[in-house]
Amino acid sequence: MKVLVINCGSSSLKFRLIDTATETVLARGLFERIGQEKGGFSYIPGEKDKITEDRVIPDHYEAVKILIETITDSRLGVIGSLDDIDAVGHRIVHGGDKFAHPVVITDEVIRGIEECSRLAPIHNPVNLLGIKACMKYMPDTVMVGVFDTSFHQTMPEEAYLYGIPYEYYERDRVRKYGFHGMSHEYVAGETAKMLGKDIRDTRIITCHLGNGASICAVKGGISVDTSMGFTPLAGIIMGTRSGGIDPEIVNYIATEENKSLQEVMDILNTKSGLYGVSGYLSSDVRDLTEEYDKGNEDAKRALNKLSYSITKFIGAYVVVLGGVDAITFTAGIGENSWLVRKLVCERLNALGVVLDEEKNKNVKGADMISAAESKVKIFRIPTDEEMSIARQVVKTLS
Ligand code: AMP
Repeated sequence: MKVLVINCGSSSLKFRLIDTATETVLARGLFERIGQEKGGFSYIPGEKDKITEDRVIPDHYEAVKILIETITDSRLGVIGSLDDIDAVGHRIVHGGDKFAHPVVITDEVIRGIEECSRLAPIHNPVNLLGIKACMKYMPDTVMVGVFDTSFHQTMPEEAYLYGIPYEYYERDRVRKYGFHGMSHEYVAGETAKMLGKDIRDTRIITCHLGNGASICAVKGGISVDTSMGFTPLAGIIMGTRSGGIDPEIVNYIATEENKSLQEVMDILNTKSGLYGVSGYLSSDVRDLTEEYDKGNEDAKRALNKLSYSITKFIGAYVVVLGGVDAITFTAGIGENSWLVRKLVCERLNALGVVLDEEKNKNVKGADMISAAESKVKIFRIPTDEEMSIARQVVKTLS
């Protein structure tokens, strides 16, 4: 099957055309700064060189139109016509507890996604825009919605309920949802392959460490708990997000600093995490590592807090899973920062984790980075959310 994967952000549209039989990427591209004065489009047909172009892109509809023109173009294209595309897979951030699986998009599904917009007011409407634009230009192609939250719909009640009055769950669906589902599912699957085991016989902890970050406990291929919550603000500390804190802090800062609720939430979302803990040095682990190497105390404090925060969730999830076979690092920090992986693994010696220091520093692609004597296997596996979406489209349609 040839599946076109669409991932829409508020001012961006990322796409990939994948031949799912061989898992080959036929083309990929990115539209940036949609709706702004100076837009940009980059495109890579197959193994060929990247083409970049400054181009004003007024809206997501125009982006989809250019996308189609490009992939079917006689010179730059990779397919003869739109008929060669068997399905479109759309990334949708929030499926609430309505969508526990990917679904073929119908009018009813669109209404369901709209209803979930109150849970993700920034993301869902823009995901819907991508769906509507594709429907306009590809009215005869089947569309599948794949949700960031659905992988975690298998969590048991004791994991997803908060200790607040039950009526908020019953009436308003206030509960833990979890995010990065496609990434956790993909890397857990790849980890099982590298363990040489049937995923149903595995207990894996996946650490998706990017600007936003979450940890997931995966038992037999199923998510049983994850660190993000009702929103992506919960869990471990992130680039600029606080992660879980005592909720009374919100009231305290608002009162002491005479700030509105919105202003305090803004601090927790954009001025906290690594950025805040480092005294506003940086939210980027690359900068913090450079400063850490120079002995900068602010960088040290931030990276220590990050590794401690990750380790605490791993420790809890080992108990939740009743043991662990493998821990996998992925996403921007998890894939690229040997220092963060080392700081985390040093804190895991109670589990018998021993890192192969050389491998950890020089690892490329998907590989094991633990020493032979390590009681738990440690992996570094690049995530591939688009491939995860394409796989789920095939599964949904077969
Ligand atoms: P993501 O959200 O998955 O794209 O991850 C972005 C984050 O990954 C950046 O903000 C950095 O903190 C981190 N990152 C990316 N590349 C590197 C690198 N080479 N070394 C350390 N951290 C990196």
